[in-house]
Amino acid sequence: MAEARAKSRKPRRSSKASKRSKSSRSAKPSKSSKSAKPAKTKRAAKSAKRAKSAKSAKSRQPKTASAAKPPKARSPKSAKTAAPPAPAIAVKAHEPQPLPLSLTAKSPFEMRVHLGDGVPETDVQSALDSGDMGFLHSFTTGSTVDGPGVRVVAWTTGCGWRCRYCHNPDTWTMRNGYPISVAKAAEELGKYRHGLKVMAGGFTISGGEPLMQHRFVVKLLTAAKKMGIHTTIESNGFFGERLSDADLEQIDLVMLGLKTWGKERHEELTGRDIEPTLAFARRLAARKRKIWVRFVLVPNLTDDIDEIGKIAEFAAGLGNVERVEVLPFHQMGRYKWHELGIRYHLEKTEPPTTESVDRALQVFRSAGLEAY
Ligand code: SF4
Repeated sequence: MAEARAKSRKPRRSSKASKRSKSSRSAKPSKSSKSAKPAKTKRAAKSAKRAKSAKSAKSRQPKTASAAKPPKARSPKSAKTAAPPAPAIAVKAHEPQPLPLSLTAKSPFEMRVHLGDGVPETDVQSALDSGDMGFLHSFTTGSTVDGPGVRVVAWTTGCGWRCRYCHNPDTWTMRNGYPISVAKAAEELGKYRHGLKVMAGGFTISGGEPLMQHRFVVKLLTAAKKMGIHTTIESNGFFGERLSDADLEQIDLVMLGLKTWGKERHEELTGRDIEPTLAFARRLAARKRKIWVRFVLVPNLTDDIDEIGKIAEFAAGLGNVERVEVLPFHQMGRYKWHELGIRYHLEKTEPPTTESVDRALQVFRSAGLEAY
């Protein structure tokens, strides 16, 4: 969920996670160094050295440069921020694929587009059907705002909502993400498994809307659980009915976005009906699955005290809401709307005042909820 992550600003990298990430990026030894034969004479040795050097230089060239299609028309601005082009063919679940350096991002606020353009539509569909492959905007490490403890976060692409304050509109389109197999994503996560346990953290899948790719997400969460890693999804809940009861067992925590109250208000803010989200929340409560509610406070949009009161009343009535996070609106994603050429309605909206945030927190606390 590309919501305003109030206390987040920028996810920090822990030194441990950073070291691991760094080591994962280190270059493999060049094949040429293994394959060069020893020269018998001085001249032969020189000649062999020259050949080795040429071969080695060739092997250092990025593989994607020749294997991938160039990205589709990209504005000069987005070209500066976008990651390297996508592979021309779909990634199959069993194929070992090198993780693109760019998949590990410093923060989800990085703009990424067209990474999956080369994947044929039929492959996208079969990936969604099987869940063996998914599309990710990025991986971030060291987040302390996407669930308990320190987290690795996989940001999925694809979202059918159009929240006016969304700070990651580049995640709306699935093909903006990088195609990656479950096996490769799980392998990447596995590098952090021990650190995550030590830091009482875990793995979070956010987006975009993760449940747009629910089969991929469930497979990845199942892999995480097998590694003993705590699992969380950040979701708007709209596709909650796609998850079976068994799927829910793979999710330790749902961070559920409750945006506003009332059918019309909700449709105006998000473009979608609120009822599926509420139904998912009730189902999670019935199955005793933990929820953290996320509520984005936007001046003149979501700061009506009566409406906040109704959200608080609903959340408190569920009985499984461990905490509420009030996220002050910010403008960190504004540049993305501009670069994508999407009309942005909150151009002049300021972040809420401290008093306004405190008022919202008080409403949730008065309903008996822990709110931060
Ligand atoms: S549009 Fe989608 S990704 Fe953006 S905040 Fe809304 S639910 Fe989240």
